[in-house]
Amino acid sequence: MDIAQLERGIVKGDRRALSRAITLVESTRPDHRTAAAELIEALKGANGTPREALRIGLSGTPGVGKSTFIEGFGGMLTGQGLRVAVLAVDPSSARSGGSILGDKTRMDQLSRDPGAFIRPSPSQTHLGGVGRRTREAVALCEAAGFDVVLIETVGVGQSETVVAEMSDLFVLLLAPAGGDELQGVKRGIMEIADIILINKADGDLKAAASRTCADYSGALRLLRKRPQDPKGFPKAMMVSALEDSGLDAAWAEMQALTDWRRENGHWSARRAAQARYWFQQEVRQALLAQLETGPARAALRELGDAVAEGKTTPAIAAAALLDRIGAPGAGA
Ligand code: GDP
Repeated sequence: MDIAQLERGIVKGDRRALSRAITLVESTRPDHRTAAAELIEALKGANGTPREALRIGLSGTPGVGKSTFIEGFGGMLTGQGLRVAVLAVDPSSARSGGSILGDKTRMDQLSRDPGAFIRPSPSQTHLGGVGRRTREAVALCEAAGFDVVLIETVGVGQSETVVAEMSDLFVLLLAPAGGDELQGVKRGIMEIADIILINKADGDLKAAASRTCADYSGALRLLRKRPQDPKGFPKAMMVSALEDSGLDAAWAEMQALTDWRRENGHWSARRAAQARYWFQQEVRQALLAQLETGPARAALRELGDAVAEGKTTPAIAAAALLDRIGAPGAGA
């Protein structure tokens, strides 16, 4: 693996080099992990400071119109001369072995657009791994000079949190609701969404979309006020991905929010907090990984048996295990 060559290719914006580098960061082989870490580190220093793309997290349940939206929205951006990368966080692929996101055939036009780069989601073993490989893929796309990186997720389990922790802004795509009740949207997502787009605001669905939009506007006003939200944000808007309507307005709002956050220090503060978060995640994962290997694994089983048989307590057994693997005792 010639890391220097990959690095040069990426900095030049060569998409084959980018693809190969993403494959590298997706690999769990220890030598690949070392090479990937080296590459990311090298790219960080390329051109002095890392290039910054606008990272947009995009979530929505299957069928809400994510691929249609990305096709239209991405095409609009490339039409303006911007380079757009699309990545996916798809925890469902961990279970089924098949990915429902990032499938190239879903975004037919965009996948053939020279200004766009679409990377399908690989199957994964655990969400922790998904987080790391996507975060590193984002860094690679950024180094390759993409202006916008869209990170898409279906929002299963913790995937929205994972995506939000690597995005500069978070967009939730919803379909018009039948009644006037808020759809079964988790409160957590309302807390991280910067812009809620009610999609399918066209034809027969337009009236329902308008009601849904009003409901969410109200709910957002009640639910949230954070220092990093300028006046009017978070906001709900209507779009039709199918008819390409409202996409320009949505982009204008994203830019307004981004500009405001940059001017007010929230952009860099958020990135700094995210870097800290990922560092902590790496530490957690490394510690957890230790439990799966050699001595810790045996101790886990042995002490687990002792706890199960009532010979010792969970707390004492846990402290004994941490002692054995060289980590300081828990709860001490
Ligand atoms: P995804 O699963 O979230 O990626 O959703 P898709 O983009 O595959 O869209 C699911 C279905 O909704 C498809 O049949 C689309 O044609 C349809 N759809 C997507 N966007 C719109 C829209 O703006 N209006 C209408 N009426 N249908 C849409």
